[in-house]
Amino acid sequence: MNAGKSTAMLQVAHNYEEQGQTVRLFTAAIDDRFGVGKITSRLGLQRDVETFDAGTDFLAIDKVACVLVDEAQFLSVAQVRQLHQLAQVRGVPVICYGLRTDFRGEPFPGSIYLLALADDIEELKNICTCGKKATMNIRVDENGKRIREGAQIAIGGNERYRQACGRCFYSGEH
Ligand SMILES: [Zn+2]
Repeated sequence: MNAGKSTAMLQVAHNYEEQGQTVRLFTAAIDDRFGVGKITSRLGLQRDVETFDAGTDFLAIDKVACVLVDEAQFLSVAQVRQLHQLAQVRGVPVICYGLRTDFRGEPFPGSIYLLALADDIEELKNICTCGKKATMNIRVDENGKRIREGAQIAIGGNERYRQACGRCFYSGEH
């Protein structure tokens, strides 16, 4: 969903592993864009990773240098709390990559808590087709046509996402 996100995540993992340290990488089990349990950057890097779903207990993680979570908007509020405790109580760095809002402009429950609890928030910038900074997400079908209705989490569909600026999001021109 974000051109730079997966690349950034794989780079962080590489940096830890280069130092001989262990990292745990996760992505959402529902994300089957590139096959379950894979993180693929648009630069062509790909890596098999663990998946998380509603039953994943992040407090069970032990003896790692860093935890990296992709598609973190799909974390439950309870799981964000687990990761927060992992970071704050056990001192394990946790880096989550995800979206703030869905294709309707509604926040993901997990994202609300990630934004509220994170020590640091870094924005990975993307550009809308009009040239402005992209802050919103538009769901499109396989032909690139915008989809405005549907569930927050689409499973098994052909939906894709494109980032857009707020003006284009509301103007309906895209
Ligand atoms: Zn725009």
